[in-house]
Amino acid sequence: MSERIPFPVIKRKVQRLFRECNIDISTIDVSRKKHVAIDLQKITKCRNIIMQPHPFSNDISGVFYKKGDKLFLGVNNTHTETRQRFTVAHEIGHHILHSDDVLHFDITEKPDTLHFRADKIQSLQETEANFFAAELLMPAELIKKCVESGIVYVSELAKYFKVSEEAMSYRLVNLGYL
Ligand SMILES: [Zn+2]
Repeated sequence: MSERIPFPVIKRKVQRLFRECNIDISTIDVSRKKHVAIDLQKITKCRNIIMQPHPFSNDISGVFYKKGDKLFLGVNNTHTETRQRFTVAHEIGHHILHSDDVLHFDITEKPDTLHFRADKIQSLQETEANFFAAELLMPAELIKKCVESGIVYVSELAKYFKVSEEAMSYRLVNLGYL
């Protein structure tokens, strides 16, 4: 039985990961950028995760596993870029929050709705990995900066962060903007 990881703890783990991988949110000048998407490749490299894009069948979004002493992250590269980014962030979440010794295999019930229907997701770990992914891809501090500099539309914010509009809406509701 695994204990639930409180959300503030997950949030701190994301912040620690940013520091470890030299990603400094506080110095990003939103007004001078075309996008502020978090560099996931920088994170996987920094954590020594081997990326394996693969044309899985449509219902499989991603997989994370350890083989020997190596870590592998498989992502379905037939999915849209925003969806792949969410999958990668979600799998990094499993890696940071959960044991690397178990195979994490992510199956979608319905395309594009998987990550945003917490009530439908059975496992606690899936909810935790999704929360981690939202924190990683859409840091509250960075959203605040965007909103303050006049980037306010959901569609615009979604493009800025390279996430789906659905993921951005969900995040904005959670942060109290919508
Ligand atoms: Zn998962």
